[in-house]
Amino acid sequence: MTGQDGRDTEERFAACARGYVEVDLDAVVSNMEHMKQNIAPEAGIIGVIKTDGYGHGSVPIAQVLEPLDFLYGFAVATAEEAFALRDAGIEKPILILGYTFPYSYERLVRQGIRPAVFRMDAVRKLARAAERVGSPAKVHVKVDTGMGRIGILPEDSGLAFLRQILEDEGLARWIEIEGIFTHFARADERDKSSAKEQYRRFVRFTERIEREIGLCVPLRHCANSAAILELPQMSLDLVRAGITLYGLYPSAEVSRDRVALRPALSLYSTVVYVKTIHAGDSVSYGGTFTAAGDTRVATVPLGYGDGYPRALSGKGYVLIRGKRAPILGRVCMDQFMVDVSDIPEAAEGDRVTLLGYDGGEHISAELLGDLSGRFNYELVCDLGKRLPRVYLRGGRRMLPGTV
Ligand SMILES: *Cc1c(COP(=O)(O)O)cnc(C)c1O
Repeated sequence: MTGQDGRDTEERFAACARGYVEVDLDAVVSNMEHMKQNIAPEAGIIGVIKTDGYGHGSVPIAQVLEPLDFLYGFAVATAEEAFALRDAGIEKPILILGYTFPYSYERLVRQGIRPAVFRMDAVRKLARAAERVGSPAKVHVKVDTGMGRIGILPEDSGLAFLRQILEDEGLARWIEIEGIFTHFARADERDKSSAKEQYRRFVRFTERIEREIGLCVPLRHCANSAAILELPQMSLDLVRAGITLYGLYPSAEVSRDRVALRPALSLYSTVVYVKTIHAGDSVSYGGTFTAAGDTRVATVPLGYGDGYPRALSGKGYVLIRGKRAPILGRVCMDQFMVDVSDIPEAAEGDRVTLLGYDGGEHISAELLGDLSGRFNYELVCDLGKRLPRVYLRGGRRMLPGTV
């Protein structure tokens, strides 16, 4: 089978040896099913697949999740991310979590993509776009209960915003308020008082909307990954699963015992060169590592140009033959060196695990984040486009476009 780039599948797999991201789609499905068991039985789930599915690949993730009956749909950050899902044939609702710029409104309406709304000028433009298309725009109203980012305030001004939509014929006819949502700033902390206060403000505001303007919004949602794990009483109608869908935890303060999650992502490369250097020899830019005695050095052909943090220079380690091989000197753009003095069996052609399991050892995104002073979310999002993604589903290995 020949891919878009004219190479056959075998050659595309061979090209992965330099470095590739492997995504276990079975783990993604199992993470969703386990989360579903923890939330309120009547609540549905939104799969948050912004930033190309947190670096995992949004389209294959959407394809594997779409058939789940408890999955309402997906959430992304931008119109382009939503269009990419529609272009790939994804049919369930898609919510855009951030501000959506007006140039995209007609296409948005035609494709059943729901923008978050909180600005009246945008609502007016959206209504006009819906009128041109000839079908109402479904929207989710964003409420700012304490994140201080986007959203109407849960007070008189917010109520006036909604009243204006309902009372203006041109708006009421073309804007369908399907959802209302807010976002927690601190649900991943041990102390849940801030999240509880945000929840209280949100629920009170929705009650006030019902009471004072008679608007009953069908889909209310506030829970992110941290709340799915630790505040399932806040499930409301939908929850938004982001980092947990990929099997990662939102923070070190969140319990690992309530919902069984399996990391979906691994990062692999191949040893391309092994040699022994001698006392006084240095390794990599700046000569920050100098050998005290004979040292076996293996070269790994992947670097910060692939999103592997340069901050791991002299700090991190990889796994080769199930053992830890510490990074020597600076991580370069496309290569770095590791110490295999204690792994005498290590040889050119060996698989290198940069993230994931090898034998009894495991390198997690959290560990790499800690070692490099980065956040686990950021680490997986930043894995470069130069790394091919390989997907595992039901024991089969496949490349995107070859499914
Ligand atoms: C990114 C995002 C989420 C998902 O957050 P996680 O911590 O990954 O679960 C949910 N809601 C909004 C509004 C977001 O921006």
